Amino acid sequence: MSPEEFRLAGHELIDWIADYRQRIPDLPVRAQVQPGEVRRALPDEPPQSIDSFATVLADLERTIVPGVTQVQHPMHFGWFPSNASLASVLGDIACSGMGTLGISWESCPALTELEEVVCDWLRQLTGLSDQWHGTIHDTASTACVVALILARERASQFSKNGPGLQGLPAPLVVYSTAQAHSSIAKAVQVAGLGNDNLRMIAEDPDTRAMLPAALQEAITQDLHNGRTPAAIVCSVGATGTTAMDPVQAIADIANEHGIWLHVDAAMAGSAMLLPECRHLWAGVEQADSIAWNPHKWMGTILDTALFYVKDVEHLERVMSTNPAYLRSTADGEVTQYRDWGIPLGRRFRALKLWFHLRLDGLEAIQTRLRRDLDNARWLQNQVEQTEGWQVVAPVSLQTVCVRHTPRTKNGSPLTGDELDRYTLGWVEAINASGAAFLSPSVLDERWMVRVSIGVEGTTREHVEQLWALMRHASSTQSISL
Ligand SMILES: *Cc1c(COP(=O)(O)O)cnc(C)c1O
Repeated sequence: MSPEEFRLAGHELIDWIADYRQRIPDLPVRAQVQPGEVRRALPDEPPQSIDSFATVLADLERTIVPGVTQVQHPMHFGWFPSNASLASVLGDIACSGMGTLGISWESCPALTELEEVVCDWLRQLTGLSDQWHGTIHDTASTACVVALILARERASQFSKNGPGLQGLPAPLVVYSTAQAHSSIAKAVQVAGLGNDNLRMIAEDPDTRAMLPAALQEAITQDLHNGRTPAAIVCSVGATGTTAMDPVQAIADIANEHGIWLHVDAAMAGSAMLLPECRHLWAGVEQADSIAWNPHKWMGTILDTALFYVKDVEHLERVMSTNPAYLRSTADGEVTQYRDWGIPLGRRFRALKLWFHLRLDGLEAIQTRLRRDLDNARWLQNQVEQTEGWQVVAPVSLQTVCVRHTPRTKNGSPLTGDELDRYTLGWVEAINASGAAFLSPSVLDERWMVRVSIGVEGTTREHVEQLWALMRHASSTQSISL
């Protein structure tokens, strides 16, 4: 494709994207396709001849769009906000369009230096001190793998340079809670530490926050048994209920024992753009690494996961291999981001944050975050004031976890598996309708429903509509008794 052909097709595509974004509210939220349906609509064989752009665009519309769950839809309340602000989309297009290669400072000096600058801007915007140095990973999952590798190498005196974990006299142990994101357990496995060495520390039954006394006890027990406590993963905004582990108390324990402390604030990091929310991660300065995702609530399009460490020397010592073909005269003067993580080649991701912050601006982002917090409080109040409805976990940010408990014919509240079937039933009725989307989740072995508020287009009116839908769906759900 020549630049001139690209110009024509590109204009058409931009128009298509703008129209698409405008009509999202008219599309069903959950993709209404059956498993295999998209695949069956596509040819099994690769194309034998080339197509016109018009044909490809028509197929995008006909075959792909129906297979998209509309997470930018204002009635999307599932999982977590996965905003993709159009300002950051432009940054993504610039990134792709330039076709840069990030394998060293030399291969694209601007890529490295803009990444340094935007990471530092976001450090300042979230109130972190200048002892933190950042990079952009694809996801918080990757950031956690890197954090655990850093912890592993610190606790094993750089076992990677010798026999690795296979030569250690005693297992390394990681501490987290059952509320933590599934990526933590995955990172433990991928970093070679093994599930047997992941301790799920007891939580406060109300807040679901890690209990520091239980953490201390587990560490003492492991030390007594000759194991090596290596890392604590502390959740600031855990996935299920947005629980906030007490960072300060955990950091005190981590520092006392020289254990690596990783703060996973993937979802809640966006809230730290609001000074009034920063008390939620008080003590974060004493951690060793922090990850959070602007690609969630803040709204910079995937994949922009920020990862901050204080000890860059340790990071580079663990992550660098320095092969001859990548050495250059600038070494020592510049940042080589390949030595800050796992991949060699990197995209120019910083452009997305740069465009987003410059074109939308902090103030608009903050206003939106505050709007979402207000909307969550509003819904919480409605639920709490309505007979039969419960808020089942503290609302720390924008996630409201609810359950409706109807009464059976004899007047007693529905319980047990029947309550589970009922809950899943009314949520599925909403999700299947395409009118809104919610994620059911399990808390204390019973299903509940998470309402995660925070899509860019979601206003109070949408939350009111959702609440009406929830009451309607639950009241028409038959109780199988
Ligand atoms: C979303 C989330 C993750 C995983 O984020 P990815 O960027 O998709 O890997 C990890 N931890 C928490 C608390 C999250 O909310």
